[in-house]
Amino acid sequence: MAENKLYMSASTSVTSTGFHQFGFNESIVRGIGALGFETPRPIQSETIPAGLDGRDVLGLAQTGTGKTAAFALPILQQLLTGGSNNPRALVLAPTRELATQIATEINALSKFTRLKVATLYGGVSIRIQMNALRKRPQIVVGCPGRVLDLLGQGILRLRDVETLVLDEADHMFDMGFLPDIRKILAALPGQRQNLLFSATMPKEIRALATDLLSNPKVVELADAAPAATIDHALYPVAEPKKRDLLEHVLALEECNSAIVFTRTKHRAKHLATHLANAGHRAVSLQGNMSQAQRDRAMSGFRARRYDILVATDIAARGIDVSGVSHVINFDVPNTPEAYTHRIGRTGRAELEGIACTFITTNDRGWVRDTERMIGSRIPLRPIEGFKLDPNEKPAARRQPRGRPNGPRPAGRPGGRPNDRSGRQQPGSRRDSAGTPGRKRKRRA
Ligand code: AMP
Repeated sequence: MAENKLYMSASTSVTSTGFHQFGFNESIVRGIGALGFETPRPIQSETIPAGLDGRDVLGLAQTGTGKTAAFALPILQQLLTGGSNNPRALVLAPTRELATQIATEINALSKFTRLKVATLYGGVSIRIQMNALRKRPQIVVGCPGRVLDLLGQGILRLRDVETLVLDEADHMFDMGFLPDIRKILAALPGQRQNLLFSATMPKEIRALATDLLSNPKVVELADAAPAATIDHALYPVAEPKKRDLLEHVLALEECNSAIVFTRTKHRAKHLATHLANAGHRAVSLQGNMSQAQRDRAMSGFRARRYDILVATDIAARGIDVSGVSHVINFDVPNTPEAYTHRIGRTGRAELEGIACTFITTNDRGWVRDTERMIGSRIPLRPIEGFKLDPNEKPAARRQPRGRPNGPRPAGRPGGRPNDRSGRQQPGSRRDSAGTPGRKRKRRA
């Protein structure tokens, strides 16, 4: 995280409580009140004044910190003053789930205004989204692929965008969206406000930030360390005993609601089925599911019809469900950075959360790298009956069926970034009736 420090700004403390300090229009204040927000979160206290001043912002913060309202509220205030009939604010997000979540929050905050939001993502009919654009929304929230599609078709006009938000920019990069983003940037007016949010700052995002932002207000929230409210620990286990250990943890802890992460979508699906067969209210969330199935899984988990969501990293990116008591890393994440993202799904909104990571002998290097990244040891919590043989040698890792859901190796032949927004890929065929000619492979 040393690179993050490059951007560290002097930390300012919250000097005033309440949202009244920002001078928002009454209609916005009502929206904030209806959501039950009383005190601005640190990221909001720091970002909102800069946003209202029209300044660029670089926010180093994870989802769960309140960053959506941090960027949305100044945008809403700005949009209340007259302007073009074309979209005036564009929010780009890496996944459908995150785009939907952002749009939901903006809709709630703007409930007492006449502002309209359109949400654009792939995997669903483009027609509904075309109709939404015809209603002249002031705000567009979308995934890069579908935004580019609609832009290319001349249905989305971005020439009057006054504010651009890039949310979870590091995930955009992981998912190979940077080329699409650069194309979208080329369609925007040069004179605009740019707000970039990212939990980590890989060098590619730093380069993007340098190109994009001019004299930004930099807001960094306690770098990438996990929230202090998360109790996290490593549970050593042999690979074949992971399911038993999972059952043990689910039964042992005060586990009301858990997200279990697996390395691949196949593992997510099979593990959810196994848990459901064992009597748990479990559902999977992974990239092989249709959008309707994913929506059902998410809404079921939010509404507590399911207690356990078994997910892959990409499918679960950015999802915000309050009151998740446990994050269980059934498989370690691909990168140390992904660890803080995953465990940030619990301990949200200053509530206590527990994060358990199952580690096999193959994961020793991962533990070392992760501890170095977060700057502290993760406690080992061996459980009787599951302890590892200390002399056991790491096994050669079997290549899982399906690609692990981590960053695609650079330079991979034919390695066009996966576009989870459902945009047609070069090489995939679609006949004039719009039926897919060849099933495109999706990443989890
Ligand atoms: P986000 O990081 O934008 O995904 O926000 C995480 C959660 O915190 C969302 O459920 C927000 O509705 C909620 N939230 C954001 N700001 C506040 C606030 N000032 N007070 C209470 N809840 C908030």
